[in-house]
Amino acid sequence: MLGICPKYVLSGRLDRGEAAIDSLAPIYAELDGRAVVLFMHPTTLACRRRPESIGPRSRMSVKRSYRMHRVVIIGGGIGGMVTATHLARRFGRSGKAEVVLVDRNRAHVWKPMLHTFAAGTSDYDSEKISFIPHAKLTGYKYWPGDFGGIDRKTRTVTLKATPLPAPGEVLPETTIAYDTLVLALGSQVNDFGTPGVLEHCHFIDDIGDATAFNDLLGSKIVLAAKAGKDLNVVIVGGGATGVELAAELTESMQIVSNYDSALTRTHLRLTLIENASRVLEPFPEKTSHAVEAKLRGLGIDVRTSTKVVGVDAQGVLLDGNQRIDADLVVWAAGVKAPAVMTNLDGLTVNRRGQAEVSDTLQTSTDERIFALGDCAALTGADGKPLPATAQVARQQGLFLAKSLAANIQHAAQLGHFKYRDMGSLVALGEYAAYGTLGSYGFFKGAAFKGWLAQMGHAALYRMHQLDINGPLRGAVIWWSASLRRLVEPRVRTS
Ligand SMILES: Cc1cc2nc3c(=O)[nH]c(=O)nc-3n(C[C@H](O)[C@H](O)[C@H](O)COP(=O)(O)OP(=O)(O)OC[C@H]3O[C@@H](n4cnc5c(N)ncnc54)[C@H](O)[C@@H]3O)c2cc1C
Repeated sequence: MLGICPKYVLSGRLDRGEAAIDSLAPIYAELDGRAVVLFMHPTTLACRRRPESIGPRSRMSVKRSYRMHRVVIIGGGIGGMVTATHLARRFGRSGKAEVVLVDRNRAHVWKPMLHTFAAGTSDYDSEKISFIPHAKLTGYKYWPGDFGGIDRKTRTVTLKATPLPAPGEVLPETTIAYDTLVLALGSQVNDFGTPGVLEHCHFIDDIGDATAFNDLLGSKIVLAAKAGKDLNVVIVGGGATGVELAAELTESMQIVSNYDSALTRTHLRLTLIENASRVLEPFPEKTSHAVEAKLRGLGIDVRTSTKVVGVDAQGVLLDGNQRIDADLVVWAAGVKAPAVMTNLDGLTVNRRGQAEVSDTLQTSTDERIFALGDCAALTGADGKPLPATAQVARQQGLFLAKSLAANIQHAAQLGHFKYRDMGSLVALGEYAAYGTLGSYGFFKGAAFKGWLAQMGHAALYRMHQLDINGPLRGAVIWWSASLRRLVEPRVRTS
């Protein structure tokens, strides 16, 4: 006998064997010619749908059982969240497949906003999307946990034991079985082996880091004000993240100064250091020079062709034995895939730790394992690797959801991903914005700036909100955020 559920006595044998079934797995069973969903828990079986023809407490025999095809997505950032949402919508209630999304955080945020949380010009609590209600509304399952590895033979992933917010409480190690696995782990900061970076720098590539930096910044400003001193902040890396952070920090201090508190007499002295000969190297030269001039106009000390060779508790050490003293150093000088990617049961990765994928987004090592976004390495039509950007992650997420759904539901061939470079945008807070039109479309490579670029920058986030919330809910969220902005302070003050 298999078990007793509230209404039936079940007997028979599960085809796939109990070992393959974990607590997340719904089991489909054929009971006297009808399919019913059984949920397997370690000790019990519960019947969810009752075949109409069979009376309560009937004795039934399980002739065939199967688990739905399960797509497990690791990482609920831009690429992972778009894939999970669109796959779940496509599978609907067909009963052919289920989607499980794993993330170590409880909420999703639009990562290109992290520097605004760090500067305090946006509020994390207003912008986050909690996975639990989103999963329920969209139709996927969310599982919290820190991804630790893969066993390709048993087709399982391991989530490490993870401390919970309550002191002493730990989520135990878990394994989840998959049929298809999607790696969407994003990226982490790359210190390029520079001594002292990991010990002394602050990072803003994760929500925890960004909010922790904002708390620290607030505290340091209070302490500097009390001591009658200025606060020196050095940002290493003149890419989009460093440039945008410098502008947001300036804006944040300007807004605070309107509140006329004693704190505002403290000056924030910002230095932006870039190794290359200009900031925003991927942008046209004209845009880089315009951005540099704008930043200098805001009082930021921009140093190009300057290499940081070490960081200590007092500041940064430059090539040529010079130093810049700093109260806070933010490292925004490049990214690589998370360390866990280099130890995934033989999965081939490049020197930045990204999984090598073909244009179907299947990894070169295992056709059941896909990777996308910052943690995947794919060469574009121009022979260059695709950049680690939100645009690439979004396009790959939308593509993979469509391709996988057709493959799993209708046994269609997997599609071939083609990247459309729609250009790049950078916003210097509310001061200015710049953009280029990329290699796709009519005005290839054209540069532009001003309100059009500012609107384009904001539109990317709004499109993402529509992608993952649908048009109606997305529009309401957008509208309510605009209303909130009318009545709330423009900078985080607590
Ligand atoms: C400050 C900042 C500003 C940026 N601005 C821009 C911009 O203006 N334009 C642009 O195109 N790009 C920008 N980017 C880059 C862009 O955000 C990334 O390219 C994009 O988010 C990549 O998407 P992804 O889905 O690959 O990864 P992510 O969006 O980073 O998502 C990865 C997810 O995986 C989860 N995760 C990671 N490790 C684990 C683990 N071990 N276990 C469980 N979960 C895990 C994370 O919690 C996260 O939710 C910016 C990045 C930063 C940091």
